[in-house]
Amino acid sequence: IVRMQKLHKHFGSLHVLNDIDLEITPGEVVVIIGASGSGKSTLIRCINGLEEFQSGLLEVDGNLLKPMGKSTKALQTIRTEVGMVFQQFNLFPHLSVIDNVTLAPIKVRGQRRDQAIETAKRLLARVGIADQANKYPSQLSGGQQQRVALARALAMEPRLMLFDEPTSALDPEMIGEVLDAMRELAKEGMTMVIVTHEMGFAREVADRVIFIHKGEIAEQGAPEQLFDAPQHERTQAFLARVL
Ligand code: ATP
Ligand code: MG
Repeated sequence: IVRMQKLHKHFGSLHVLNDIDLEITPGEVVVIIGASGSGKSTLIRCINGLEEFQSGLLEVDGNLLKPMGKSTKALQTIRTEVGMVFQQFNLFPHLSVIDNVTLAPIKVRGQRRDQAIETAKRLLARVGIADQANKYPSQLSGGQQQRVALARALAMEPRLMLFDEPTSALDPEMIGEVLDAMRELAKEGMTMVIVTHEMGFAREVADRVIFIHKGEIAEQGAPEQLFDAPQHERTQAFLARVL
């Protein structure tokens, strides 16, 4: 569902992504790990067109994105087909939970309001916060807000879900409830790309773990392989610090 070939991305003189080749198949759960500043966020932001790139090829669900953002039509399609959950929940503070979840399906997909509300209620129940539908984001805990963000992304029926450190801004006691919701989603067969520092979770849900070092894929493999028998010195050094 994702095909990235020889992708290069610069911020000015900074070479942030260097010759990335990446294929993701439907239903696959890919976890991306790496040090701060290694390019993890930039990589997943490229996948949904939030960042343009300078050279290479990127195809998402049959939509081809060209370097330097010159493919507006494909970009629009990709943004509606790829869901994203960020570290900061990015909910609309002036909208209730239910309105946060129904906004895009109504405005972008043209769904009927009653239908969108029904779907939203089902999704909120699925992430365990059915009873919070009429509250505002500021009235929720961080873990609850992040689950609203997840329900909001799922309401667009994404073909692919991207997560950028979804639990990093949460108090420890709330991390579990968000990871549980993600675990469920993985079980149901959603294709997911997840940047996380939760190594236990990565080991458990990932089909494949990718270690990024200075903008390059330094090593990748099944979690057992990467965590228990890392081949590269860089991977070993990184894991020694975080495990
Ligand atoms: P972290 O774990 O801290 O989130 P990361 O692996 O997600 O790090 P990125 O956010 O992808 O790293 O950043 C990669 C590099 O690109 C960093 O050196 C960062 O300073 C730089 N960078 C990111 N965004 C921009 C930007 N908009 N303009 C200029 N440089 C940027
Ligand atoms: Mg990041």
